[in-house]
Amino acid sequence: TDFSSLGLPQNLLDGLSRAGFETPTKIQEQAIPKLLEGRDVMGIAQTGSGKTAAFGLPILAGIGELTGRARPLTTRALILAPTRELAVQIDENLRKWGGAKISTVLVLGGVSRNAQVQKLSRGVDIVVATPGRLKDLVDDGKLRLNETRWLVLDEADRMLDMGFIAPVKAIAKLIGPRRQTMLFSATMAAEIEDLAKGLLKDPVKVEA
Ligand code: AMP
Repeated sequence: TDFSSLGLPQNLLDGLSRAGFETPTKIQEQAIPKLLEGRDVMGIAQTGSGKTAAFGLPILAGIGELTGRARPLTTRALILAPTRELAVQIDENLRKWGGAKISTVLVLGGVSRNAQVQKLSRGVDIVVATPGRLKDLVDDGKLRLNETRWLVLDEADRMLDMGFIAPVKAIAKLIGPRRQTMLFSATMAAEIEDLAKGLLKDPVKVEA
């Protein structure tokens, strides 16, 4: 299998070949076609499996089909990650694959809120965030999730371990039911199963 058989648009295929990606990983091969069909996905995968591209490329493809700018204070896709380091990596990869037309904002605790708020005020394609700071900004009316179409919970097991379950659930509720949701976790513990049941609709299960 190569990337061109997965249904991705040509601009992303060009970007992947520039990045030296030739063959999809197992999780990419399973998840990308299902996500492009609009299905929810539950992925059991660790760092190194290629999970970032598995959820990131279908989102970039979907955003590419939308026209115009996102409206002020809104975001088209929200990606939640447990740590700053992971969020930074995800953001870097999305910008590399998506090119200059995609706008992203990193929303992280421990760094200046003002710069984040200013970028959000213009409306963005993708917000990559840790749950605590994201919830603060949403509560303060600095970001609206009512137009968000894609929600990713990356390393959901670590978010649970770090006590982020309440903000994660609250954030998901604000996005509403018409979203497409992806949940990735290294393990399939009972709590993850429960979280998935609450947030995913008839998910396709994929495993690295
Ligand atoms: P991830 O598991 O998403 O953190 O990805 C692990 C590393 O593998 C990252 O450096 C990616 O850029 C790289 N990678 C992901 N998918 C592929 C692929 N299909 N071919 C080559 N490298 C990849």
